[in-house]
Amino acid sequence: MGGLLAVGFGEAVPRSLRQAALAFPEAQAEVQLADAQIARSSEPWVIASFPVENFQAYTSPYGYRGSGFHYGIDIAAPSGSYIRNWWEGRVVEVSDDSACGTSVIVESGDWTHVYCHMQGYVTTEQGRRVFVDGSGGVRIVEGQDLYTGDRIGRVGMTGRTTGPHLHWGMRYQGEWVDPGLVLQAMADGQRRASLPR
Ligand SMILES: [Zn+2]
Repeated sequence: MGGLLAVGFGEAVPRSLRQAALAFPEAQAEVQLADAQIARSSEPWVIASFPVENFQAYTSPYGYRGSGFHYGIDIAAPSGSYIRNWWEGRVVEVSDDSACGTSVIVESGDWTHVYCHMQGYVTTEQGRRVFVDGSGGVRIVEGQDLYTGDRIGRVGMTGRTTGPHLHWGMRYQGEWVDPGLVLQAMADGQRRASLPR
């Protein structure tokens, strides 16, 4: 896992990031994993997972807004919609005591992805912090590994929020980046991978 991310994925990404401002995929509800073999060799973005099911709208972009800098994008979806892990990696933190609400942070090579405002709570079991969403059937232990596309929680309203949505944040080598650019690169990669060869 670490090798793929460090060599293939890590190097491919900066070149894929566009300088353009926010440009979101139009009707792209989810990037499928179907063509993973081709993807791993030439289109690393294709195997990434769109982070939420039942996409409704992007409700707040990355960047400055009235209340300050917004370190992520907001993706609206009906309360209870499942959130999916963007890229395989390790859970480095679960928490439920900040403005982010009940949240999971995953590390994938040089990337860190943050999921906020989820349903459920965090508890401690045998010295380990555990995120529990009982009715959603989700249980995530700090330190555990996740696959791309794993259901890691459900859209809720914990923390500071006025409506159900996923706040999705992303860091590359420690620096915040615009997740909208990542989604755009995923859409572009999928389109290229579907062209005849
Ligand atoms: Zn947000």
